[in-house]
Amino acid sequence: MTTTAEKGTISIHTENIFPIIKKFLYSDHEIFLRELVSNAVDATQKLKKLAALGDFNGELGDLKIEVSFDKKNKTITVSDKGLGMTGDEIKKYINQIAFSGATEFVEKFKDKTDAKDIIGKFGLGFYSAFMVADKVEVISKSFKENTEAARWECDGSTEFELSAANKETRGTDVILHINADSEEFLDEFRLKGILEKYCKFLPVEIKFGTKEESVEDGVDKDNKPKYKTVTSDRIINNPAPIWTKAPLELKDEDYLRFYKELYPFSEDPLFWIHLNVDYPFNLTGVLYFPKIKNDFEIQRNKIQLYSRQVFITDEVKDVVPDFLMLLHGVLDSPDIPLNVSRSYLQSDANVKKISAHITKKVADKLVDMFIKDRAEFEKKWDDISVFVKYGIISDEKFYDKAKEFALLKNVDSKYFTLKEYEEKVKPNQTDKDKNVVYLYTTSADKQHAFIESARNRAYDVLVMDGILDSHFINHLEQKLEKTQLKRVDSETIDKLIVKDEKVASVLSKEEEETVKKVFETAINNTNMTVAVESLSPDDMPVTITMSEWMRRMKDMQKTGGGGMYGFMGAMPDSYNVAINGNHALVQKILKAENDDQKNKLAKQVYDLALLSQNLLTGADLTNFIKRSVELVG
Ligand code: ADP
Repeated sequence: MTTTAEKGTISIHTENIFPIIKKFLYSDHEIFLRELVSNAVDATQKLKKLAALGDFNGELGDLKIEVSFDKKNKTITVSDKGLGMTGDEIKKYINQIAFSGATEFVEKFKDKTDAKDIIGKFGLGFYSAFMVADKVEVISKSFKENTEAARWECDGSTEFELSAANKETRGTDVILHINADSEEFLDEFRLKGILEKYCKFLPVEIKFGTKEESVEDGVDKDNKPKYKTVTSDRIINNPAPIWTKAPLELKDEDYLRFYKELYPFSEDPLFWIHLNVDYPFNLTGVLYFPKIKNDFEIQRNKIQLYSRQVFITDEVKDVVPDFLMLLHGVLDSPDIPLNVSRSYLQSDANVKKISAHITKKVADKLVDMFIKDRAEFEKKWDDISVFVKYGIISDEKFYDKAKEFALLKNVDSKYFTLKEYEEKVKPNQTDKDKNVVYLYTTSADKQHAFIESARNRAYDVLVMDGILDSHFINHLEQKLEKTQLKRVDSETIDKLIVKDEKVASVLSKEEEETVKKVFETAINNTNMTVAVESLSPDDMPVTITMSEWMRRMKDMQKTGGGGMYGFMGAMPDSYNVAINGNHALVQKILKAENDDQKNKLAKQVYDLALLSQNLLTGADLTNFIKRSVELVG
């Protein structure tokens, strides 16, 4: 069979689709390389398959794909040694399939505003070459015996040229004559960058060659200086990344090495999950648990999505549940439809299944780790708690599993499951209405005095100082029956967990009134609500608290939530000041000689209470020090 030179018209419906495509693809021009190299990979894989089936009996030989560029002649070439095409096949596959694909694409998306979004992940196949080239040549020789090499050329219009070519070796060269707007791609770093982004894990070795031409001695027949080509080649991809291998073949070092390959500057991950599903959908991948401290916002967009080892995107928002986006790693699935819009993706049944499956796998892994080695799990807890809590808050199914392994940590750094903790505190921390009260601190340092008085009553105090803990606390209250969570400094110790036994007051009603007045005058601040309480004589004389309710509203406001509490915007912090009528100092104040003396003493104990909570600052602090010096002196 011979290829006779011919000119022809590609029959497509839209006259000139190129300008439309060009408009859509403006910011994503670089994907042309992904598309062409993917085609080269496909052609290579197909040949291997034919060989395996016995339909190709020749030498496979070196199957490396070569990407090279020539700055002087303004070309970029993608060469493969795959199955190649005859002239007729070029007409069929390139003229018809590639062009009709592009036409269909444009027809579908020309009125859609989200087209750009889609194209970035999907590409246009062969046709995308015309985004950067004003002329494309395909020179190909089929693996089939007794066929001639063919050369096809087209400038992106509907006209093409096909002729016989002079190619001895099997495979296809696609030569792009780069257009004036796209010369940025005739650059080693730019091209290498694109290859590393999209082709880093393609399954066939890819050689990236910089063809630099330097002047050789002498001149050619047209009297121009002669050039010689200097090539520097290196393989830019890892054709067998670990997610394509069986977990049994892999050691911890392999996973850690791969992690470093993905994120060269990151600390080692805590552990990982190797996903390997082939029914009812296809999904492979490795998800790593990074060390997440409180800056978890920065860590997003670390999961990379591949389709048969071709990089698609690192925006996995619709494929992976939000809380799992804190993980790192790769997912590879040919079943994620990439050629559809985002809103469609969210409702796609496969995507939903994949997302649910990943959640389940992650939860199972954590259950497994918890059961197998509790001590080791506890060691990791501080690093994974943000992630687990986020999952618990946002995903009901995840909560169902996580309630078995989620841990609560107390101020002694002991860890309890939800069940264990309930059993631990129930006997001593149930109030008169049968509510179990969990006490917590957001800062063991600042709330030290309150933690101490809780300890004196043998109450346990949890540490809730994480970024998500205020949400987590709300969630626990919704989930756990008859359970309340209160910050240790939200009430005086008696009121934190109200029990029936009351300490009798040594003060008469009148005396209590007097004490109240004295303190109100001394404090002289309407945001401080004074009350006299009969606490134990061993408790502090004055305790300043902010109610749990008030503080939660304030916190919510700070984080931008709680719309209905917007009215509190201008409200100052208001506190409760509890005066312990049973404390010896308070009785001393009552008995002081004159009002001035009473006032001074009341101020002093009040300031001490402020001081113990870091609330005493500025002029108040200076005055307190002066007064103290006087009193001591
Ligand atoms: P797709 O790859 O999605 O089928 P393309 O437009 O990229 O669409 O390519 C159209 C067709 O052209 C391919 O299906 C393939 O048959 C053929 N083709 C493209 N590139 C090559 C190549 N390097 N070697 C062999 N055939 C190729």
